[in-house]
Amino acid sequence: MTEKVIPLADHRYLQTVPAIPVTLEAPTGLLGDTLGRPLHDLRISVTDRCNFRCVYCMPKEVFDKDYAFLPQTSLLSFEEITRIARLFVAHGVEKIRLTGGEPLLRKHIEKLIEMLASITTQSGKPLDLTLTTNGSLLARKAQSLKDAGLKRVTVSLDALDESIFQRMNDVDFPVSDVLEGLDAAHAVGLGPIKVNMVVKAGMNDGQIVPMARHFKGSPFILRFIEYMDVGASNGWKMDEVISSAEVVRQIDEAMPLEAIAANYTGETAQRWRYRDGGGEVGMISSVTHAFCGDCSRARLSTEGKLYTCLFATSGHDLRALMRAGRTDAEISTAVAHLWRARTDRYSELRSINTDGLSQPRPKVEMSYIGG
Ligand code: SAM
Ligand code: SF4
Ligand code: SF4
Repeated sequence: MTEKVIPLADHRYLQTVPAIPVTLEAPTGLLGDTLGRPLHDLRISVTDRCNFRCVYCMPKEVFDKDYAFLPQTSLLSFEEITRIARLFVAHGVEKIRLTGGEPLLRKHIEKLIEMLASITTQSGKPLDLTLTTNGSLLARKAQSLKDAGLKRVTVSLDALDESIFQRMNDVDFPVSDVLEGLDAAHAVGLGPIKVNMVVKAGMNDGQIVPMARHFKGSPFILRFIEYMDVGASNGWKMDEVISSAEVVRQIDEAMPLEAIAANYTGETAQRWRYRDGGGEVGMISSVTHAFCGDCSRARLSTEGKLYTCLFATSGHDLRALMRAGRTDAEISTAVAHLWRARTDRYSELRSINTDGLSQPRPKVEMSYIGG
């Protein structure tokens, strides 16, 4: 029997404390990285815990009762999160997405939303403040989230068939509760609402057309996500990926589709619409069609590490700077230097050399860094 080693939660991933540059600079709102990509989008993970055990994200065998989740003292406080958010907005961030783990499990999340909603962008507009959730607590919380200032939600749902959905979430959570959450979110005006479906071969690929049919003509925009090699615990294999091309082929055969233009540069989903006017679907082709060229996303982990790529192997410890009493100007300048030095384009490199995928690398888990 092999012994299970559980690393101290705070030290399981590589991290560095960013150096504070000698010359401090005021943010211009116009940061660019080595590939000219701006910093527009910040994803904040507010908890590493979840009430689901989706097979592609938090498989039960790894995330079991012995798994060391972060202790409460490690988490960024709402004040710390808001402080970082303000510094990032000064650098040009216009969109903030709260994620996790399951963000609705974080106690008093509405308070954080209220604090973030008071931030305005460089051009004086309200932030595009959104949240990705598994929908389990949405029916209960939709109104309070809206009242707190949340603009919209994205809800994950991998199947309509009860037994398939329960096999995917692995905690026997019923489809009907997520559908209720969707309706509640729509009723209080948390739209436009997107529904994300991760497709894993042999698990829920038979649900592609039923899901498309269900959401066709509804207020919800269904998006299909290619199963990604994020993290190390899901045992990802290329032959479990169903390509977006295959998803489009299947839907098009049943309900004819045509491609449409992106809403904005850097949009992660390729858009398709039903030829009969029944709305649109999106394809997020992280594996077969890398979109690193336009990637303007930074990610903040639950305990304050900044990741400049979903596949980064090391985080930059902003919490250490805050808790060491560094000033806003110091932290902001450190962030500017980090973003300017950014070279990440993991998915593009993976498409060039898929051999690299089988190399063991200390990748961070999706539940820790947020989707
Ligand atoms: N718990 C929330 C949820 O499920 O919506 C938010 C966090 S979850 C990590 C964010 C998104 O990442 C979800 O839409 C989920 O389906 C997606 N995701 C997780 N693991 C993935 C993987 N291996 N490949 C593709 N998408 C994944
Ligand atoms: Fe939880 Fe979301 Fe990961 Fe599923 S995808 S296990 S709901 S964090
Ligand atoms: Fe962005 Fe990294 Fe994903 Fe490329 S692989 S799109 S750089 S997060």
